[in-house]
Amino acid sequence: MFEPRPCATSGCGRPALSGSAACIVHHASPLSHVAGLLRPSAGRVELRDLDLPGIRLVDIDLSKAEIQGCRLTAATFVRVRFLSAQIHLSFLDRATFEGCDFSGAILQNSVFAGSEISDCSFSGCEIVQDNFLGIHGVRVTFDHSNLYATRFIGSLLESVSMRDCSLMRAHFDAGHRNVVDFRSSSINEGVFLEPLS
Ligand SMILES: [Zn+2]
Repeated sequence: MFEPRPCATSGCGRPALSGSAACIVHHASPLSHVAGLLRPSAGRVELRDLDLPGIRLVDIDLSKAEIQGCRLTAATFVRVRFLSAQIHLSFLDRATFEGCDFSGAILQNSVFAGSEISDCSFSGCEIVQDNFLGIHGVRVTFDHSNLYATRFIGSLLESVSMRDCSLMRAHFDAGHRNVVDFRSSSINEGVFLEPLS
C-alpha cells in the first residue's frame, strides 16, 4: 500500500507525489514526473504502492495496466483507456473521469466514492466489492458486468445503463430502480435500501 509523505514545501500539508519531495501543486514539472511513472515495462504500465493524488491524465492509454495499492484521490482522467486493466486495493475517490473506457477491466476492492463519472464505459467488467458511494454518474454504461457486492448508495445516476449485469449483493438506494436501466440483470439479487427519512 502507498505510504503518505508530506510535501517538503513548508506550510503546504498536501501529500508529496511518490518519487518526489513535492506535491502536485509544488512540483516543478508534474506532467513529466507522472509520465515517467507511466512508462510501460514489458508492454504495460504497472503502478504499485504509489501516492499520486491530484494528478491529471489526458489521452493516455492504460490498457492492461496493473494498478495496485495506489492513491489517485482527486485525480482527473480525460479520455483515458483502461481496457482490460486491473485495479486492486486503490483509491480513486473524488476523482473526475470523462470519456474513459474501462471495457473488460477488473476493479476489485477499490474506492471510487464521490467521483464525477461522465460518458464512460465499464462494459464487460468485473467490478467486485468496490465503493461507488456518492458518485455522480452521467451517461455511464456498466452493461454485461459483474457488480458483486459493489455499493452505489447515495449516488446520483443519470442515463446510466446496467443491462445484463450480475447484481449479487450489489447495494443501491431504492430510487435507482427507476433511473437505471437494469434490463436482463439479476435485480432480485441486488440490495435496494429504502432512503433514510
Ligand atoms: Zn506542496
